[in-house]
Amino acid sequence: MSERSGKVQTVLGLIEPDQLGRTMTHEHLTMAFECCHVPPAPGDEDLATAPIKMKNIHWLQQNPYSHKENLLLNQETEAVKEELLCYRKAGGGTIVENTTTGIHRNLPVLRQLAKDTGVHVLAGAGYYVDATHSDETKKMTVEKLTDIIVSEVLHGADGTDIRCGVIGEIGTSWPITESEKKVLRATAHAQTHLGCPVIIHPGRNKAAPAEAIRILQEAGGDISKTVMSHLDRSIFDHGELLEFAKMGSYLEYDLFGTEMLNYTFNLDVDMPSDSQRVQILAFLIKEGYEDRLLIAHDIHTKNRLTKYGGHGYSHILKNIVPKMLSRGITQNQVDKILIDNPKHWLTFK
Ligand SMILES: [Zn+2]
Repeated sequence: MSERSGKVQTVLGLIEPDQLGRTMTHEHLTMAFECCHVPPAPGDEDLATAPIKMKNIHWLQQNPYSHKENLLLNQETEAVKEELLCYRKAGGGTIVENTTTGIHRNLPVLRQLAKDTGVHVLAGAGYYVDATHSDETKKMTVEKLTDIIVSEVLHGADGTDIRCGVIGEIGTSWPITESEKKVLRATAHAQTHLGCPVIIHPGRNKAAPAEAIRILQEAGGDISKTVMSHLDRSIFDHGELLEFAKMGSYLEYDLFGTEMLNYTFNLDVDMPSDSQRVQILAFLIKEGYEDRLLIAHDIHTKNRLTKYGGHGYSHILKNIVPKMLSRGITQNQVDKILIDNPKHWLTFK
């Protein structure tokens, strides 16, 4: 048995699972997303370079990826700190920070935020999508990638002694690239060695979540300790959703607060509203999946912060929980989704 067994690993060290409290399982506190910049529509060039102001907030909410400065969440550490203090006041305990190699993970900032706010923060090991893999990463063998991921959990990442407490979000595109397949296999091998939680970012296709799970499964990964992120924008048909749910991963609805018409990364997607997300949660609970559900906001751009007119990290606790309760989800089920399920996922075997 390792020293991590039965514990949760935060950026400040190991803690008891019962200390976590209410947990957002997919957020970012500092990252940069230039990798995914989308050129503005013709005629919107001025908006795309203008400073963020009240009068362009709505444009920004509809076009968050077309404003380069909006993609630099790493410039907002002071605002994020304030938000985390509000999150604690609202009853929040823990944030799983999913920033991996490729989107500017910054472990010293995460550690400082955890110290300054009292919120437990868990950091993520591994790699984001192929478009952010360096040439060096692409050349690595599965064994080499496994060694790096294991080391990020056991010893610390990015030249620091700050240890990651989960593997992921591991990025995949659609179709899944060769380099991403190697990272998925390395993730499964590292998980087998460490008994740790894993979280996956699927490509934007309804077949993508199952394909990623199959690759992990074939490489020996523990699917019951794996989270599939972003189901809100991935699988829409209820029958297909139940088919996927049978594979046994945690099912994460993590785009709460994001309501936009034209989802630029996949225009075929009708991004659900928060009300529709709550309806899907109620449906999955009715189908017997209350022990598998997780929720979060996946804040990754400036416009989602309250400083810029966004919903902030407390939106679920302040607005979504009352909505869940008013739509037939019980307090006990809410507590499972926010406290018990994250706790079981995050505890090392
Ligand atoms: Zn994310």
